[in-house]
Amino acid sequence: MKLWEENIRRVVPYTPGEQPAGESIIKLNTNENPYPPALGVKKAMQDMDAGRLRKYPDPAAQSLVGCLADYYGVGQDQVFVGVGSDDVLATAFLTFFHSGKPVLFPDISYSFYPVWADLFRIPYETPALDESFGIRAEDYYKSNGGVVFPNPNAPTGLFLPLSQVEEILRHNQDAVVVVDEAYIDFGGTSAVGLTRRYENLLVVQTFSKSRSLAGLRIGFAIGHKDLIRALNDVKYSYNSYTMNIPSLILGVEAVKDEAYFCGTLEKIMATRERAKARLKGLGFSFPDSQANFIFASHKQAPAGELFQALRENQIYVRYFKQPRLENYLRITIGTDEEMDKLFAFLESYLK
Ligand SMILES: *Cc1c(COP(=O)(O)O)cnc(C)c1O
Repeated sequence: MKLWEENIRRVVPYTPGEQPAGESIIKLNTNENPYPPALGVKKAMQDMDAGRLRKYPDPAAQSLVGCLADYYGVGQDQVFVGVGSDDVLATAFLTFFHSGKPVLFPDISYSFYPVWADLFRIPYETPALDESFGIRAEDYYKSNGGVVFPNPNAPTGLFLPLSQVEEILRHNQDAVVVVDEAYIDFGGTSAVGLTRRYENLLVVQTFSKSRSLAGLRIGFAIGHKDLIRALNDVKYSYNSYTMNIPSLILGVEAVKDEAYFCGTLEKIMATRERAKARLKGLGFSFPDSQANFIFASHKQAPAGELFQALRENQIYVRYFKQPRLENYLRITIGTDEEMDKLFAFLESYLK
């Protein structure tokens, strides 16, 4: 090995879900929203002046920060924005998990957490979920270098009641607690309100799922102004211009159209509840999801085989070949028509 090679930072990267091309594909593998973004987004995109791209964007992303602050009823100094919530979460790991003590997150949760921890050389421990895939709040009542968990959890879809989130906060006043609310808009209750009482709480959300803008890459965090200032100090220490001009313009448009946003959420939640009934009827069992996906296991058909069969029929779902998860499929909630095709295939396959 050459000397320079020995000095390379070794990392095992996160593997994102497949993005297959093709019109006929039913894509239920990366929890994207099956509906297009609000009409105002399309309009603003058509009206966009390419000449503006000559200049740098606003490094403080004032327009987007301001409209998120208004929407969530917090101060502008309590909002941080980034290139998807992955960027926001990575910045939070780098900023807040610096004590040398292990950070805690569930053994089954977002598989990017251990990747960031390894990248930034942050030690961590992963308390196991209980037999029904629930987070046990008590596991987080001990000395640590920070806590992070998704709520609802991924890939289980289970929502941890806010009273339990608050118990975790009550037992962790000396470290930063990050609640990753990527799926909160699909029926859970946000912890944003708790940021008023717990200044060490950072709530992270994204435009990728509920706001139909995965392709734009917008995420944000809400918390006490001292947390936000610390995030900005780190951001300005490696890239001042994270938010590009189209994202700033289109992101604001997405937030403006609350009626469309709520309508889309209602549709997805109704389809999800219908999917639960259909899947149960087909012999599947699953945790009771409050997200835009269902984590399902069949009583006879092995998930690995089902995954392959679905794939050969142009239906993409997510499969994790890992202990405890290897007999489950994570199925994103698509449109009613897409879900009907999925059910029709499953019905004939399982016969
Ligand atoms: C999808 C997802 C994210 C990241 O989404 P971005 O597209 O980067 O905003 C973060 N956390 C969880 C749990 C997710 O499922």
